[in-house]
Amino acid sequence: MLIDYHIHSTFSRDSSMTLREVCERACQLGIKEIAVTEHMDFDPRDYSYGYFDYEAYSKEIELEQEKYAGRLIIKKGVEVDYQQRNEKKIGKWLESHSFDYVLGSVHYVIDTNLSEIEPVRRLFSQHRRMEIYKEYFKEVQAAVLSGMFNAIGHMDLVKRQGSVYMGPLLLEDIKEEVIEVLEAMIKTGVVPEVNTSGWRQPPREPFPGPDTLKLYHDLGGEFVTIGSDSHQLRQLGFNLDEARELLRGIGFQSLATFDKGRLVPVEL
Ligand SMILES: [Zn+2]
Ligand SMILES: [Zn+2]
Repeated sequence: MLIDYHIHSTFSRDSSMTLREVCERACQLGIKEIAVTEHMDFDPRDYSYGYFDYEAYSKEIELEQEKYAGRLIIKKGVEVDYQQRNEKKIGKWLESHSFDYVLGSVHYVIDTNLSEIEPVRRLFSQHRRMEIYKEYFKEVQAAVLSGMFNAIGHMDLVKRQGSVYMGPLLLEDIKEEVIEVLEAMIKTGVVPEVNTSGWRQPPREPFPGPDTLKLYHDLGGEFVTIGSDSHQLRQLGFNLDEARELLRGIGFQSLATFDKGRLVPVEL
């Protein structure tokens, strides 16, 4: 089934498409189900901090769910920026807000926002490659074990800039850490996302890459979600078919969708 489980509408500060435009375009593309995953940030330094309006978002989601009933399944999701030091705040916030799908994403490593060009350049010039990668996966591991998330977004995002400064991220280099994360996911039922945006960025492969997905499958991982991480209309549904093809080739049979936090398997 064609799903896109990582989409930002204008309820995220860095998106240029309204929720209505998202739904219209998703129908045109033949997508059957979407999860909207607006940014929710807990770090005051973040560009999107304080921007997300839960009440207005919830109202708009309900409106679109009604309008598109029978044509498009729309899930109310959120992409939470995870940092270990904000875990209590995040937990408290999630307790008092309801979602179908809570995506946990690590955007910071060694106190550096991976989207900011100059700080990232400094990070890679001041720290050793393996130190950065290890720190990143340590944070992802904590996100998995926090028990707050249905899925983990772009679980090796650090390679986006890492691949520019240090060459491709090879699974061999970081295998121990990745296995630890994947085993924790399988044990706790947290699902990895195949984030297709990596295909349109320097790594030229999804987050995570084919090797990691194969490893997850070999370890017994059954479910994944797929998301385009789109912020503009032309990115919506980006490379969903490529992702499905990749997953089928590895041997996956099901995708995970979510309803009020409960995993609902659908055919890949
Ligand atoms: Zn993200
Ligand atoms: Zn995102």
